[in-house]
Amino acid sequence: MTTIIDGKALATKTKEALKQRIEDLKAKKIIPGLAVILVGENPASQIYVRGKEQDAKSLGFYFIIDRVPVSISQTELLKKVESYNKDEKIHGLLVQLPLPKHIDEEVITLAIDPQKDVDGFHPVNMGRLFMGDPLMIPCTPFGIMRMFEEYKIDLAGKEAVVIGRSNIVGKPVATLLTMANATVTVAHSRTQNLPAIAKRADILVVAIGRAHFVTKDFIKEGAVVIDVGMNRLENGKFVGDVKTEEVAQVASFITRIPGGVGPMTRAMLMEQTVIAAEQKR
Ligand code: NAP
Repeated sequence: MTTIIDGKALATKTKEALKQRIEDLKAKKIIPGLAVILVGENPASQIYVRGKEQDAKSLGFYFIIDRVPVSISQTELLKKVESYNKDEKIHGLLVQLPLPKHIDEEVITLAIDPQKDVDGFHPVNMGRLFMGDPLMIPCTPFGIMRMFEEYKIDLAGKEAVVIGRSNIVGKPVATLLTMANATVTVAHSRTQNLPAIAKRADILVVAIGRAHFVTKDFIKEGAVVIDVGMNRLENGKFVGDVKTEEVAQVASFITRIPGGVGPMTRAMLMEQTVIAAEQKR
């Protein structure tokens, strides 16, 4: 029997569990504050930011969406980041990516105060994570680790394969799995014999961005399969990187799209903002 890892239900539970912590902060006159800078009108970014707004407001955060025109200069955007860095009411700050071509994402990411970097993308936070002393963790990997915890999936000594080596998913997931004592292989577009390597995995995390790329042939009997992919088909439907139906026939645990990793990413952003507010205190 395959267990579906219900990211939506776990996200709700995660947000519920934050309520007491938020009350405790409020008793000390601290309201978790989250600011999102949204540059331009990228439709996907608008949807993501609306989701963040919904979550933040439902938890009673102080929430700001700072919408700026696509023509904003890098210098002006840096000034905005600086002002939120200094704003005592703001504990979490993120600049929604992607940014227009004339703005260097790395420069903007570097400008965010690492203590307010609730996306966990700042090199200081990446470095701390890789050194085993994390402050802010990228939300998608953080959410995936919470799934393992919730479903009591033991990672110690397990063979884990992560397909994808991006800075926001693949690399930090591999680091967190290593910290949890799994033995980790990171695969990517240049990996040879990928199905054979994936088939070694007790834990398989797929983050590549190719619809239905991972089939049953990649899966060891009883493996845990986490599908991070979000791919929009021509009919507008979103699907993962994994052929869920057929892989579910072999896996012991599997995530679905929608209702898998996505809602957990959102929930962990909220949790990380609460953590930032608690640390400030
Ligand atoms: P990314 O930066 O584009 O990285 C993709 C990775 O996949 C790269 O390391 C690439 O290898 C590897 N790859 C591409 N094609 C491959 C192939 N045929 N075989 C093996 N590896 C291959 O993507 P990302 O930001 O990590 O995102 C990955 C997917 O997750 C996307 O669909 C994205 O939308 C989704 N995502 C979802 C959430 C969520 O909350 N649900 C959050 C973040 C991302 P190279 O390094 O060799 O190029």
